[in-house]
Amino acid sequence: MKTKGYAVLAAKQDLVPFDFSRRELRPDDVALDISFAGICHSDIHQAREEWGPAIFPMVPGHEIAGVVTEIGGAVTKFKVGDRIGVGVFVDSCRKCSSCLAGLQQYCVEGMTGTYNGYERDGKTVAQGGYSDKFVVNQDYAVKIPGNLDMSGVAPLLCAGITLYSPLRHWNAGPGKKVGIIGLGGLGHMGTKFAAALGAHTTVFSHSPEKEADAKAMGADDFISTKDPKTLAFLPADFDLILNTVSADINIEDYLKLLKLDGTLVVIGLPGKPYSVNVPTLLGARRSLSGSMIGGMPQLQEMLDFCGEHNILSDVEVIDPSYINEAYDRTVKSDVKYRFVIDASKF
Ligand code: NAP
Ligand code: ZN
Ligand code: ZN
Repeated sequence: MKTKGYAVLAAKQDLVPFDFSRRELRPDDVALDISFAGICHSDIHQAREEWGPAIFPMVPGHEIAGVVTEIGGAVTKFKVGDRIGVGVFVDSCRKCSSCLAGLQQYCVEGMTGTYNGYERDGKTVAQGGYSDKFVVNQDYAVKIPGNLDMSGVAPLLCAGITLYSPLRHWNAGPGKKVGIIGLGGLGHMGTKFAAALGAHTTVFSHSPEKEADAKAMGADDFISTKDPKTLAFLPADFDLILNTVSADINIEDYLKLLKLDGTLVVIGLPGKPYSVNVPTLLGARRSLSGSMIGGMPQLQEMLDFCGEHNILSDVEVIDPSYINEAYDRTVKSDVKYRFVIDASKF
């Protein structure tokens, strides 16, 4: 299937227009015309090889919202015209305990990434969503509620689920005090979800000018961390803190803000190890944990939750020709709050 997109041809280079082919439909596949594709900071980390060797040419993009144009003969879940979403993975082994539990992101054989990896045949390079068309197995796509605008939906497929999943896992809700570090693509979704779930929500941000936006998204408190010393004067009363920062920060400062049995969940992936003082953990039986996106059932649950609560990502819609500038602006924390590519312009 002829496809037009944008690719990185070698590490750290700018993205350029790129024509390529996708597979013809297998019986369980659906084809979609992509409407919008979000730009996640993970795209930038991989395009710039900040996580180690990557596969080039690389068409990034794992926040995909589109409309079904064709279905394979065995497809039962979708029909032509359905609005569907695809996220960070497009396959998994389907038989391990994680897959059977609907936690495909933790597949013991490793999930099959939407791009920068090989499909399950071990040789076809998977190419992502910065493109006009996509082909996916029906089990790895979800339905988009009819009331939601497609541009604001695209980022839900990674940024949304990545924050929804830990908030649900650690029972964010009324009576719980939740902190979100970083008001970027992930953090702004976490703020909206934590508030919608009824938790007392605090945003920690090194961009003081984002305060009004954070409050409009539902944050009860906003703490500027421009001077990190501010953190030393706060009480240790958080149940849950989610770190979404894409750069190195001192997580020790935030571990100290957890109350007894509180949990700090690391979500941002700067690529370097964190350093932690053991007494900080054991002094209040604190936990340091991690969380990665969410499984297929929860991806659908999250979209349905967004449909019911009218939750969308705040987006800046761009043409493909603006992707390189969007990357630079994202790295400077200068995006409100997710760049989304208009895929009709490829
Ligand atoms: P993003 O939109 O760039 O947001 C990151 C935010 O971190 C920025 O908006 C900024 O918030 C804060 N920040 C950036 N540089 C900072 C610095 N030097 N010091 C302090 N704060 C800084 O990125 P994103 O798309 O949300 O992704 C965030 C991270 O999560 C990335 O590392 C990405 O790879 C990772 N990720 C993980 C998963 C997972 O499953 N675990 C899934 C997707 C992405 P303020 O301006 O408010 O301070
Ligand atoms: Zn992502
Ligand atoms: Zn598996």
